[in-house]
Amino acid sequence: MPNPQKTKTPIPKQNPEERIKNFNEVALGYSAEQAIQEAKRCLQCKNPPCIKGCPVEIDIPAFIKLISEGNFRGAINKIKEKNNLPAVCGRVCPQEDQCELMCVRGKKGEPVAIGRLERFVADWEMSHPVEQPVNNSPSPDAPKVAVVGSGPAGLTAAADLARMGYRVTVFEALHKPGGVLRYGIPEFRLPKAILEREVKYIESLGVEIHTNVLIGKTFTIKELLENEGFSAIFVGTGAGLPHFLGIPGEDLNGVYSANEFLTRVNLMKAYLFPEYATPIKIKQKVAVIGGGNVAMDSARVALRLGAREVNVIYRRSRKEMPAREEEIINAEEEGIKFQFLTTPVAFLGDKEGNLNRMRCIKMQLGEPDESGRRRPIPIKGSEFEIPVDTVVVAIGQGANPLLSQTTPELKVNKRGYIEVNDKTYRTSIPQVFAGGDIVTGAATVIAAMGAGKIAARSIDEYLRKT
Ligand code: FAD
Ligand code: SF4
Ligand code: SF4
Repeated sequence: MPNPQKTKTPIPKQNPEERIKNFNEVALGYSAEQAIQEAKRCLQCKNPPCIKGCPVEIDIPAFIKLISEGNFRGAINKIKEKNNLPAVCGRVCPQEDQCELMCVRGKKGEPVAIGRLERFVADWEMSHPVEQPVNNSPSPDAPKVAVVGSGPAGLTAAADLARMGYRVTVFEALHKPGGVLRYGIPEFRLPKAILEREVKYIESLGVEIHTNVLIGKTFTIKELLENEGFSAIFVGTGAGLPHFLGIPGEDLNGVYSANEFLTRVNLMKAYLFPEYATPIKIKQKVAVIGGGNVAMDSARVALRLGAREVNVIYRRSRKEMPAREEEIINAEEEGIKFQFLTTPVAFLGDKEGNLNRMRCIKMQLGEPDESGRRRPIPIKGSEFEIPVDTVVVAIGQGANPLLSQTTPELKVNKRGYIEVNDKTYRTSIPQVFAGGDIVTGAATVIAAMGAGKIAARSIDEYLRKT
């Protein structure tokens, strides 16, 4: 008999007063008893719709059944047949729009907490390690495949290609692998030790990761193919170029792009300055512009860095916010304030060029735009000023043009994203495949991983034919 409980088994969390003083993880994870209790809510559907909601097609009922039987090793092995980053996905996947959205238990109550269960077994495995598998060394005459970028798309493609027997080298521009998982998502949502471990697992499959290599500068795509002996390339360079508002005062001291702000904190560990070399200056009154995950992360980081007041300024209403609901609730619990239907029109500063206030305008919602959300329209004469000494602009990112500029044969669309065949992920260059944010624009970790998987299959098919 399945557990009739209508709501998810709650996940223990650090309390808000404590957690805003540290960078430790907010959600603490299930105990074994809680995981088994939650797993027993699964109805083991004959045609499980939840699998269709998972871009990497994990056999969800199978791994949940194993948890309900207390076979945690079996459960993690089942997940790993399809997913190379389970501890990451269990934490940051927007499950509410994916696997859990499709769960039949969601019709009369809350869906099964698939993400929390995935996280539980991934964490359980970390605390119950088995001897590492012998390194999966590929044959020395296997074809070489290059992967450009070590975000979730690149890491997934690399792991799958290594399993297929190819010699895989990942080239990463930054000094540590992981992409946004490393430099964007903060420690309190995704501890870096978890990422380290998942990267190590991928290396144990035989993947070599070379950091501090910027493709387009250190080597071009053509050089990788013609001089470095690679038979195929997967490009997963993400969408890391910050967008700006284009309003007066954006060059004042105290105005950051979210990309710079989060990179300083997450990658350069600015919150441990002077122990680490990169500083970050956070003053008293912080405003974060935007309503997505990046805005929520920036606001919550600012609070932990000691800001007295953090306001999120968003031009639509709460209903249209693209951030995960769970993260909006966490931010609200922590005391972040929200000013909806508002957008800045100018940043203003003192004679030394330091930001000290911001002029905003009120908005109202009109007809839906191409995104399907109601278009915000400025209300004439509604301008007002608010005092602020730090602003983080989190209104989106775009494609870095470096690769397309140095490889003119690589076709991109008018927004700079690489054009691919939507079934094979092959680009305009036959040996080059691409996936993740550099193809779709800013999306999700699991969508990038799904693209990495499909591209790896296509690369395999292509290399078998040549
Ligand atoms: P990325 O993760 O961007 O990785 C690309 C990598 O390529 C980077 O490491 C970059 O340095 C490297 N690179 C770029 N150019 C070159 C080059 N020329 N040579 C070598 N290397 C290069 N998604 C979720 O699902 N859930 C969340 O909670 C979530 N929160 C987010 C929070 C933040 C702050 C941000 C910024 C994004 C968030 N996302 C979230 C979105 C998600 O992280 C991305 O969609 C995903 O990381 C895209 O993966 P990717 O592999 O395509 O690219
Ligand atoms: Fe759900 Fe993401 Fe896990 Fe797939 S990988 S089952 S979408 S949490
Ligand atoms: Fe279990 Fe929900 Fe999937 Fe059915 S849809 S198998 S209840 S997780």
